[in-house]
Amino acid sequence: MRIAVIGAGLAGLAAAYHLLGNCEVVLFDPKGIGGGASGIATGLMHPYAGEQGRRSLHATEAMQATRELLQISGAEYSTGILRPVQNDEQYQMFLSHVEKYGDVRPHGPRCFSLESGLTIDCMGYMQGLWQAIKEKGGKLILEKVNSLNDLKDFDQIVVAAGAGIKQFPEIPFKTYLLKGQVLKCRGMQLPPSSMICKGYIALSSQPDICHIGSTYERDDLTETPDAAKAQGDLFPKVSMFFPDVHAFEVLDCRAALRVMRVGHYFPIAERVQDNVWVLTALGSRGLLYHAFLGKQLAKAILSISKKA
Ligand SMILES: Cc1cc2nc3c(=O)[nH]c(=O)nc-3n(C[C@H](O)[C@H](O)[C@H](O)COP(=O)(O)OP(=O)(O)OC[C@H]3O[C@@H](n4cnc5c(N)ncnc54)[C@H](O)[C@@H]3O)c2cc1C
Repeated sequence: MRIAVIGAGLAGLAAAYHLLGNCEVVLFDPKGIGGGASGIATGLMHPYAGEQGRRSLHATEAMQATRELLQISGAEYSTGILRPVQNDEQYQMFLSHVEKYGDVRPHGPRCFSLESGLTIDCMGYMQGLWQAIKEKGGKLILEKVNSLNDLKDFDQIVVAAGAGIKQFPEIPFKTYLLKGQVLKCRGMQLPPSSMICKGYIALSSQPDICHIGSTYERDDLTETPDAAKAQGDLFPKVSMFFPDVHAFEVLDCRAALRVMRVGHYFPIAERVQDNVWVLTALGSRGLLYHAFLGKQLAKAILSISKKA
């Protein structure tokens, strides 16, 4: 079986890795590995995203799937994320996680430690995963796919094109785009681990460099960075739990578009035609869900070839 995967971000790479073994897999992406939103993701993965801090659906299996690929990639990561809380509702929610899930621990009066949380070198992770894909025989063609009709030589097609999904009329799901910006900063005084609340500080492998993120913008759906706008949005949020942010020096600003599903945060991993599958709408939980859903999707596609 020959399978085309459109997009070499987190979604496409995870699907490709799990498809390889008994079939030929070709990735298509004009920007190469991690040229879309995945390439600027700050690398935070934990199961308690969102304002209320509820545990995400299938979080345990999803984190396990990411950890497996992370190990294969050999990428660097750090463990543990601090989660300050802003109100009593969030406090009670995280307190209940302490008892229920065992991967959350109180850390001071208004803060919790998410022990299962990771900060991953996302680009290093994708490069490592791509190496593993190449070793399994996967190929990458640095070309844009303009139409699914151009892929008639393939038995199955996986569309994992991130914001590029909008160009394929065959994909029927209701999604929308949100721009996200992240600031690369230098600071003399960084927190002991990454911190997330409204806005976050993600540590890097360099001791004085961190990333401050991320904006959720609806008014300007371009990938053009606007550092002043990002700083104006993010620094006040982050200063609520880390006042020293105001002493940070902004070194760089990057922007990309997230694909969001209308009505729910859980991504879309489905068959849309006999030979067309889609993995999209990873929203801001790309690291949490890409490996788990890439594996599920691959399993479903491979089960077809067994039946045929
Ligand atoms: C600022 C920011 C920070 C983030 N931080 C985090 C974080 O810390 N943790 C986390 O879990 N998530 C984070 N996210 C979300 C995460 O980046 C996304 O969920 C994830 O990258 C989506 O992966 P994807 O593979 O679906 O899309 P993408 O990474 O966008 O990949 C899609 C790829 O498809 C290619 N493509 C598009 N159209 C075509 C076409 N016609 N033909 C061929 N190729 C095509 C593109 O070039 C692109 O490389 C962040 C997002 C942003 C914007």
